Amino acid sequence: MPEIFDLSPHYPAHDWLATAMPEKVPHAQLIVSAQGGMAWATVQAYVKRLLCLEGGCGHCPSCKQTANLTHPDVHLVFPVTASAGDGTSESSLAEFRNFLKFNKFPLVRTWIDALDASQKVVQISVKEAKRMGDLLSLKSHSGGYKVLLIWLPERLHDSAANKLLKTLEEPEPKTAIFLISHDEESVLPTIRSRCQAVYLPPWGAEHVRQWLIQERQIDPNQAKLLSALSGGEPGVALDYLENRERLVPLAENFAEWMRLAFKKDLPGLQNWVDTIGAWSREQQRDFLHFSGSLLSQLERLRHHALKHGTLEWFPDVPFNASGFSKLMSADKVLLMHQTMDDAYVDIGRNVNARLVFFDAGLRLMKAF
Ligand SMILES: [Zn+2]
Repeated sequence: MPEIFDLSPHYPAHDWLATAMPEKVPHAQLIVSAQGGMAWATVQAYVKRLLCLEGGCGHCPSCKQTANLTHPDVHLVFPVTASAGDGTSESSLAEFRNFLKFNKFPLVRTWIDALDASQKVVQISVKEAKRMGDLLSLKSHSGGYKVLLIWLPERLHDSAANKLLKTLEEPEPKTAIFLISHDEESVLPTIRSRCQAVYLPPWGAEHVRQWLIQERQIDPNQAKLLSALSGGEPGVALDYLENRERLVPLAENFAEWMRLAFKKDLPGLQNWVDTIGAWSREQQRDFLHFSGSLLSQLERLRHHALKHGTLEWFPDVPFNASGFSKLMSADKVLLMHQTMDDAYVDIGRNVNARLVFFDAGLRLMKAF
C-alpha cells in the first residue's frame, strides 16, 4: 500500500521528514496535530526512514515492523485505565496495535471507546514512567536507533511527567523520543520547552475526499460531504462515517445548547445542565471538543466556505444550521470558542461540571 504522502507530495511535512537521519534527528520532538489529524501517519513515516537502512524503502522487515508497530526498537506509550493489567501500556499493546491498524488518524474518544473506559480515568500513570526508563535502558536490537513514541503527553500523570522530564534532560545516545499531542496547551511547559515542536496542519478537504474514495471505497457524494465536514482531518471524516450513532447525542445537545442560548431560556438551561452534568468527564470533554468543531463549521457556512449544511450528516437532529449561522458574527464566534475552550480546560481540572456548563451557558446567552 502506498504511503499517504505519495498521494500528496505538497503536504508540508516533507522538509521535516528529511531530518529523519541518524545525524540529524533531534533527541525529543513534540508532534502536534488536531485530533483525527496527520500526526501518527507522519511520525510512522519518519520512524520508517530513521530505522530503515535504505531510508524508508517500505519493503524491508524494518519498514514492515514499523508500519504495524511491532519493531523491537520502537516502544509505545499511551494512556490506559489503572485497572488494565499492570496499569501500563504494556497490557493493552495488542489492542492499541489493532486500533491503529485500521485507522492511523485516531481521536482520543475512539481510543477511550476501544478501552470501554468512558466512565474511567484514562492516563499515562506513574508506573508507566518506570517502564519508560526501563525501555530506554534496553540495548537496541538492530544496533541502530531506539524510538519511544508517547501518544497524548497531555494525559501524563504529574509524577510520570516529572520522571519523563529527567529522561528528556539527560538524553541517552541514539535515542529518539516523539511526543504526539492533540492538545499542546495541556502539556506541561517544562516538557514542551525540552522538545523541538513540529506542527502538522490538516491534510486538506480535497485530499481527504480523494483518499475516502480511493482507499476506503466511499461513495463519491458521501465522500464529498464527509470531507467538507472534516476540516481536512481524515480521522474526523472517518469518525462521522463510522460512529454516526455515537455522535447523534452530541449533535442533539449542541443544537439544544445553541437554541437555549439564542432564546435566553434560563429554566431550560438549568434542565440541560442537569442532563449534561450527569455525563462522565470524558464524555463532557468530548462534547465540548465536538461542539467546537460544529461551531467552526457554522463559521465556515456563514462565509460560504462550506457548501453543505452543518448538521446535514444528522438529518434527524432539528437544527437550521444555515439560518443559525446568519445570526453569528466574528465577535460572537470568538466569544463562543473561548467559552467552549475555557469549559474544556475547567472540566479537565475537575471543576464542578454543573457550574462549568451553567456559566458557559450564560456566557453564550450574552453572546446573542
Ligand atoms: Zn525499509
